[in-house]
Amino acid sequence: MNIIIHRGTTQIGGCVTEIRSNNDRIIIDLGSNLQGAPSREFSDKEIFNITEHANAVLYTHYHGDHVGLFSKVADGVPQYIGEGAFMVMKCKNEALQHAYDSALKRGDRDIAEELNKEQELKALKEMNTFNAEDTLTFGGISVTPFFCSHSAFDSYMFLIECENKKILHTGDFREHGYLGKGLRKLIPAKIGQVDVLIIEGTMLGRNTENVRHEVQIKSCVGHLLIQKSERKHLFALCSSTDIDRLASLHKACKEHGAWLVCDIYQKQVLDIFSERAGKYSDLFSFDRVKVLGEDKHFFDEIRITGFVMLIRPSRHALMMKVMHYFPDAELIYSMWHGYYAGTKEQLNEKVVEIVSEFPKTKFHEIHTSGHATIATLSEVIRLTNPRKAIIPIHRSKESDLSLLQISDKQREKVLLDNNSNRRELSIE
Ligand SMILES: [Zn+2]
Ligand SMILES: [Zn+2]
Repeated sequence: MNIIIHRGTTQIGGCVTEIRSNNDRIIIDLGSNLQGAPSREFSDKEIFNITEHANAVLYTHYHGDHVGLFSKVADGVPQYIGEGAFMVMKCKNEALQHAYDSALKRGDRDIAEELNKEQELKALKEMNTFNAEDTLTFGGISVTPFFCSHSAFDSYMFLIECENKKILHTGDFREHGYLGKGLRKLIPAKIGQVDVLIIEGTMLGRNTENVRHEVQIKSCVGHLLIQKSERKHLFALCSSTDIDRLASLHKACKEHGAWLVCDIYQKQVLDIFSERAGKYSDLFSFDRVKVLGEDKHFFDEIRITGFVMLIRPSRHALMMKVMHYFPDAELIYSMWHGYYAGTKEQLNEKVVEIVSEFPKTKFHEIHTSGHATIATLSEVIRLTNPRKAIIPIHRSKESDLSLLQISDKQREKVLLDNNSNRRELSIE
C-alpha cells in the first residue's frame, strides 16, 4: 500500500492525500491553496492526473482548503461528502450564483467573475453523500467517517482500512468545540491502534495563539451585550458556516434577550443547522434570529433589545447601511487575526476595510482556533499509538515537533520533512 501526500506536508491547507493499493486508489480532500500559500495552485491538468484513475474522492469537510478543487475532478470519478456538509455547500454556491446574476444585471463584470459558481453547482449535482459511521467500500479499500469537532459543520475524520492496515486521517479537528468532548472516547471505542496516523498539525507552528473553549466565547459575547447595563448593538465578523461560533453568538443573544440578526443567505444556513443538528441539542436550534428588513419596526425593536448582527468580509456595504442607523455599533472580530493583522500575503482586503471602520475602543477580538491544540494532538498520537508512521499535514514549516508530549518511540515515527510539500510512503 502506498500513501501519497500530493500537497500539504509543509503548508496549511490545499491538502490532497491519496491511498493506493495494487488495484484501487482513493483521494482524501482536494483542497485549493489558502491565500498566501507557499506553493502555486495545481493546474487543471495536474488535478486531472491526480484524480483520473481514482475509485473515489472523499472530503473531510467543506472548507475551501479541503474541497476547493472539487469541480475539476476527472469526469466519472465519484465524489463523497457528509450529507449535512453537502447541504451547506449547495446553499453557499447557490447564494454566490445568485449574487453573480445580480452583478451581471448591474453590469458589474469584475465582481461577477469571482462569484460565478456554475461549474461548482454542476459538479455538486453529482456529489454523493455519507453519514457518520457508514462504511464505504471502494474495491479493497474501506472508509468509515467519524464525526469530529471543527469550525465547519458536519466534519469528519476517516478510518481507512486497506490490505489489513489501518490508517486514521484526522482532517481538521479540535477538542475545544461543542462536539470535542467525544474524541477521547471515540478513539479507544471505535478506532483503536492504527498503522499510520495522518494528522493535521496547524497549531504546531501557532503555539502562541490563545485557545479557549467555545463556551468561553459565548460568555465573552454575553458580557459585551450587557456592558454597563446598556443594550449593545454589535456586528460580528465571522464565518457564515461555523456552526459552533454561530451557536455561541446565538446562545449569548438568547440568554440576554437580544436578537441575532442576519441576511437571507445566513438564515438559510442557520435553518440547515437547526434542522439537522437542532434535534440533537438545543444549542443548535437557531430560533432567536431576525432577518434584516423582515418588518418595518425591526430596527426599533432591536435598538431596545440589543443585537448581534452577523456580517461576512464581503458585506461591507450592508454593514455601512445598518451603521447609518446604529452609529454606536461595535465590532466583534471572530476570525483568525492574520486576516487583519498578518503578513502582506495573509491580509484579507475586505476584512481590513471592515475593521478600519471601528476605533480600538469599539473593536473586540473574540475568537478561538478551529484546530487541535498541541495537547490534543499529543493525546491523539498516544491513543492511536501508530505502529509504522505519523504524518503531520496541514502544517507550516515553522512546526515545532518538540512541543508534542509523546514518547520517544512515538516521536521516532513522526515524518517531518521541511524540504518537500509532497511525500510518498510505502507501507508493508
Ligand atoms: Zn483546513
Ligand atoms: Zn477546515
